[in-house]
Formats: sequence, structure tokens, C-alpha cells
Amino acid sequence: MPPAVMARAETLFDVENRDNNAPMSGSEMRSALALYDGIMPTLGDRFTADIFAEFGRPRCKMLANFGVGYNHIDVAAARDHGVTVSNTPGAVTDATADIAMTLLLMSARRTAEGERLVRSGNWAGWHPTQMLGLHVSGKTVGIIGMGRIGQAIAQRCHFGFGMQVLYANRSHKEVDFPARQVSLTDLAEHSDIVVVAVPGGAETRHMIGSTFFNTMQDHAHFINIARGDVVDEAALIDALQAGRIGGAGLDVYEFEPEVPQALTRLDNVTLLPHLGTAALEVRTAMGMLALDNLQAFFDGETPPNAV
Ligand code: NAP
Repeated sequence: MPPAVMARAETLFDVENRDNNAPMSGSEMRSALALYDGIMPTLGDRFTADIFAEFGRPRCKMLANFGVGYNHIDVAAARDHGVTVSNTPGAVTDATADIAMTLLLMSARRTAEGERLVRSGNWAGWHPTQMLGLHVSGKTVGIIGMGRIGQAIAQRCHFGFGMQVLYANRSHKEVDFPARQVSLTDLAEHSDIVVVAVPGGAETRHMIGSTFFNTMQDHAHFINIARGDVVDEAALIDALQAGRIGGAGLDVYEFEPEVPQALTRLDNVTLLPHLGTAALEVRTAMGMLALDNLQAFFDGETPPNAV
């Protein structure tokens, strides 16, 4: 945890810091539920139904997730066992949209490939047709999931890069900037760049697969900053290997942190290690929000970000 988050936590509660960044094991999660009144878990700590199963009501009454995405927690099972779950929306929005733009530009303009070329010592100098990428300004972006992060990406694309914005969303959604809601198929067909910004979980698992990639234009780029399992990674690898799409930029992976060699071997994909919110002030804000939720809960109030 960022130091300011730990410092505030210690003023509010008796705190035990888990000094290990690997995901919690099943037995750690079970003993944490038995030992603590509240837990601040994060992605990778898979609080599935069977973790709660051995308890009637565990001692733990609150899981304050550090992060907006909570698809690693079975919220219904938690509720059945008397455990409230909260997340950290809002604090992550701009930083994650910025990483989407980073990947969008890196993929379209081949910057990771270019950087590898310079570092390899094999760059022979500028020439008129060297490493031509996709010009971004004025193109059409298709955003899947027009929530907080989707809208922040759309605004950057529209106001910053003069792009047309198409979006697909579960429910009908009005936005206060020029953008058009379309079907997923229309979005695949008409976008020069596609960005995925839906939550992970059973409802969105593999919503993007071979049919989607086959429908995309062959010069179009695919960006995922959401969750890895929204995309059928094998189908994405096939599309990239066959050159059926222009390229991809990924912050998240289906079997994270495992990144298949089939991806690392390809030049037409940009790979980041889940950097969406990786800035100290953002991680601090996330931690503070998680603490706000714990504090409200233990003061007997409704946590502001209960899910
Ligand atoms: P949000 O405000 O809840 O937005 C999610 C949007 O996705 C909503 O508009 C929702 O539609 C839409 N949606 C849900 N299921 C859908 C479906 N099956 N088809 C089409 N649209 C669907 O969440 P957010 O704050 O923007 O965050 C989105 C996700 O980004 C998080 O859940 C998290 O997994 C991921 N994330 C990643 C990073 C990173 O580090 N890479 C950082 C932060 C977040 P409705 O309007 O119908 O609800």
C-alpha cells in the first residue's frame, strides 16, 4: 500500500499488513475471513463461492476491494454470508483512460516496435516508408462499454484527436459529446480502433472472439484495458498471427500474469503489465476510497461504494 494509505489505516484500525504481493491462497483467504473484521483485497485475490462456503457468518463483515473491477469476488456469495463488498470507482477513471490512449497510440504508430529497433542497434536511419503505422487523428474509434472509463476514453479521442466515436453498451446510454451507440457488429465493422472498457465476469467472458476479429477491418487496431477474460485470447492470437487485424495493445490478459509466448513473439502487439492505475497519487486515492468505505461501514453507515 502507498505509505499515506497505511498511515491513515493505522489511525482508524488495528492493521495487519500482508507483506506479499502474490495473490492470496485459498487458505489465506479463509483464515483472513475468520481472523479480521475487514479486509482490503485486490485483483488476484479470488474470493469465490467456495472460499465463503465453510462459514456460516465469518468474523469478516467487509471486503473493501482496492480497485474498481471486482469480478474476482463472488458478491452474491459474500452477501449470503453477511459480507459487504465495496470498490473504488472514479479514482481510477482518468489514469486508466490515459493508459488506453497510450496503448492506442503505441499500437497504431508502432512505437514499441520502433523502440525495440533503436535499442537493438539495427536502426539504419529515417526514410520515407520506414515503419509506417496507422494515422490516428480523425479516425473512428469504437468503444465497448461506455461507463466511466469508456466515456473518459471517448472524450480524449473526440476532443484531443478529432475522432468519430462509436460505442456499444449493454443498456441504452446518452452521453453529452458527439458519439453514436451501435451494435457490437457495426462497431467491429466500422471502427479503425476498438477499445474494450467493460467489466470482467461471467456476463462479458469471451464477448470478443473470432467472429468479432473477422468482422474488424484489416487495418484496425484492438485495445483492451478492461479484463483479459473479456477476450478469447487464442482468437486474438490467431487474428494477429494471420494479419487479419492491424495490431493490438493489451494491458490485461486472460490468464494474467501469464502472457503466452505466442503474444510476446509477435511484433504487431503492444504488451503492458496491467499499468492502468499505476501512478502513486491514483493508487493513494484508491486506497483512501477503500478506507472511506471501511470507515463508513464500521461507523454503522452505508459504505459509499458498496456493490
Ligand atoms: P463502469 O462505469 O461500471 O462501466 C462499465 C460499462 O460497461 C457500463 O456502461 C456497462 O453498461 C457496460 N457493460 C457492462 N456489461 C456489458 C456488456 N455485456 N456489453 C456491453 N457493455 C457492458 O466501470 P468503469 O469504472 O468504466 O470500469 C470498467 C472496467 O475497467 C472495470 O470493471 C475494470 O475491470 C476495468 N479496469 C481496468 C483497469 C486497468 O488497470 N487496466 C483499471 C480500472 C478499471 P451499463 O450502462 O448497462 O451498466
